[in-house]
Amino acid sequence: MSTVYLNGSFVPKDQAKVSVFDHGYLYGDGVFEGIRAYAGRIFRLEEHIDRLYDSAQAICLNVPMTKPEMAEVCAQTCARNGIDDGYIRLVVSRGEGNLGLDPNLAKEPNVVCIASQIQMYPEEFIEKGLRLVTAATRRNYGEVLAPQVKSCNYLPNIMACLEARNAGAHEAICMSREGYLAECTGDNIFLVKDGVLKTPHHGVGILRGITRKAVLEIAAELEIPTEETFLNRWDVYSADEIFVTGTAAELVPVTNVDARTIGNGVQGPMTRRLREAFHRLVRTEGYPIPKPQEAQAI
Ligand code: PMP
Repeated sequence: MSTVYLNGSFVPKDQAKVSVFDHGYLYGDGVFEGIRAYAGRIFRLEEHIDRLYDSAQAICLNVPMTKPEMAEVCAQTCARNGIDDGYIRLVVSRGEGNLGLDPNLAKEPNVVCIASQIQMYPEEFIEKGLRLVTAATRRNYGEVLAPQVKSCNYLPNIMACLEARNAGAHEAICMSREGYLAECTGDNIFLVKDGVLKTPHHGVGILRGITRKAVLEIAAELEIPTEETFLNRWDVYSADEIFVTGTAAELVPVTNVDARTIGNGVQGPMTRRLREAFHRLVRTEGYPIPKPQEAQAI
């Protein structure tokens, strides 16, 4: 049976339990990360951990360990579950409190790390591409909760996801309050127009995706011109290519938005090139996962 890290111990999956009084459960009060391991190395682990701690800082949540300790938790959780290629979920919730929402009454955060397998989209979608809709639900904006905070409150994203599902689509595109293209419910979005790779500027109010950053770096290396800019629905409909990026989804083409066929209705050439480069990159760097026999007590 798989093993879960819970507050300093590794416990069998069926014993990995937190209180129903945890404010993560009662109020979505917590932060999380989704991280991937490829070929025995955890991709951009330090960046994920930095983002987790920044999110925690933004909600006054004190993560009860150092960043290097957190990195080891991730590596050891993979090692103990025999995960070389897989997905890691890190959650730090406010912890057990009472029925009021005052976070100060929760004294001890709960820290959970799960290492498992994930497949967001079957292989067939790489050629066929995804179908997206633009959602009526807006990306939550900074005056409410900074979109850079990867909090356990994903209800706006879930509302947009429901819109997609109800329309028979795979994913939803959320606009900013001002009507600019922001991102999807669990991924960032890129367009290709006339040879230029475009993605919403972070000032629009998006999660600063680690995959997004990696793709922009790859594009720079390949000397593909890029723009982080302000885009709207028209830019989406008239794009030559579209793809989404995220740790779980990786890099997946989009071939239909709001019933408009994008480009030729199949994966475009720049998407293919970037996708191949991305899959090469993830296998060439990362935080090493120890061999199972080197797994240690934490
Ligand atoms: N936007 C949202 C809302 C997300 O949940 C995610 C997934 N973490 C992303 C974008 C993509 O970010 P990353 O590439 O860091 O996984």
